[in-house]
Amino acid sequence: PLPYKGVSYEKAQSMQLDNVFPQVQMYEEPLLLHEGKMQWLFDHKGKRYLDMFGGIATVSVGHCHPRITEAIAEQSGILGHVSGAYEHPKMYEYVEALVSKMPGDLKTVYLVNSGSEANELAMQLVRLHTGNQDVLSIQNCYHGVSGNLHGLTALASVKYNNMSAGNFIHHAMCPDVFKGIWGGKKCRDSPVQTQRSCECDRVRCHAADKYYEQLEDIFSYSIPRGKVAGFFAESIQGVGGIVQFPRGYLKRVYELIRSNGGLCVADEVQTGFGRTGEHFWNFQSHGVTPDIVTMAKGIGNGFPMAAVVTTPAIARSLNSGFHFNTFGGNPVSCAVGVSVLKVIDEEGLQKNCLDVGTYFLEKLCGMRREWKIIGDVRGKGLMIGVELIDGDQDDSDKGIINPLNCRAISRIKNDCLKMGLLFGVGGVRSNVLRFMPPMCVTKADVDFTIAVLRRAMQNYYEAKYRNNL
Ligand code: PMP
Repeated sequence: PLPYKGVSYEKAQSMQLDNVFPQVQMYEEPLLLHEGKMQWLFDHKGKRYLDMFGGIATVSVGHCHPRITEAIAEQSGILGHVSGAYEHPKMYEYVEALVSKMPGDLKTVYLVNSGSEANELAMQLVRLHTGNQDVLSIQNCYHGVSGNLHGLTALASVKYNNMSAGNFIHHAMCPDVFKGIWGGKKCRDSPVQTQRSCECDRVRCHAADKYYEQLEDIFSYSIPRGKVAGFFAESIQGVGGIVQFPRGYLKRVYELIRSNGGLCVADEVQTGFGRTGEHFWNFQSHGVTPDIVTMAKGIGNGFPMAAVVTTPAIARSLNSGFHFNTFGGNPVSCAVGVSVLKVIDEEGLQKNCLDVGTYFLEKLCGMRREWKIIGDVRGKGLMIGVELIDGDQDDSDKGIINPLNCRAISRIKNDCLKMGLLFGVGGVRSNVLRFMPPMCVTKADVDFTIAVLRRAMQNYYEAKYRNNL
């Protein structure tokens, strides 16, 4: 690793208390990550970590991938910024490359800087285009936390209860077959499928119908028929704890929304750019084509950029509204975007997600059979969740899932950190371990991850029985 030249650890520790919001601190003690190389991160002491979180599915092709670094340097030396109102050739180059990845008539692009901005714009578009106001999302979803989105994000408003959803926002029940009221034990005990079949075959039960009917009821009680503006959904819920929807659910909901005058927005912020392995966009595995797709994170390998892609007709609706963005689509971000797409293709990263992700899922499913605290293993490609439950209190017969408590999760997470493994935690009860590494990880990295997880769980059990935790 490179020599460390940042602030001292002690200084960071003292600043942590008053100078930095606690929301940007993942671990109890400061973690001074100062260097990255592909799937590896190094802290101030030169200690190496395997990054199985990838900055929340953001580092798509690898930390400091040489081709991305080169693209940034080269473009910065030619033209760095012209503001969102001017055009430049890199924008056209990027837009052409991006739309070549989109199905159907999705070929009009607005470049912005973050997932929240992309979803805000999508929210404006669905309202302008339909002339309706009501917007639907699914409980446990995450679409951003700016203005309107605080209400749409039914994880923030539910989990932290700090924002009402606001007017004209409706939340449908989350079709979670593991914890939800429909699905239940039969689904949970069915062998966990790997990504080849996931959304299609994982759940052959009545859950899709039941959750669909619940969403449809919203039209009986809260939204006048024919008057919906739009429906937002991730194709796998990310922050919500890698929640996959049962077979056929999303397709039926899309039909319902469209028959009521609304547009369907696919939030591919975490699931896009090949991460889920089988398809470039994960909405494709649901057999749907959205009206609007929002994307961010993996789009720029960590460079702040995002996009809204829609049809020319929907895009024209913005003429009757107002929108501007200073940095969106600046030449450097476009150069990054072009290189990210090339690297994904040329290095076969989507295929790597499929191969390594399948291998990882299989290993985790093996662990699930051994360890009672692993309640569920799910996901596709390199977007994987492991839901930890209280293995001593199995009430699943009664349809009750007892999440593993936060103290225990934090113990396991910190133990893994000590052993050089980073991953995320998500879900409304913060009991889902999330793995969304740079897409270049290998099977050897998976073996390391599994070995560390086993050791951390073993340590947890030993401490639990020793100290009655
Ligand atoms: N959509 C999804 C699915 C996300 O996971 C996130 C970020 N976690 C966002 C939107 C918002 O993105 P940003 O933080 O870039 O505003």
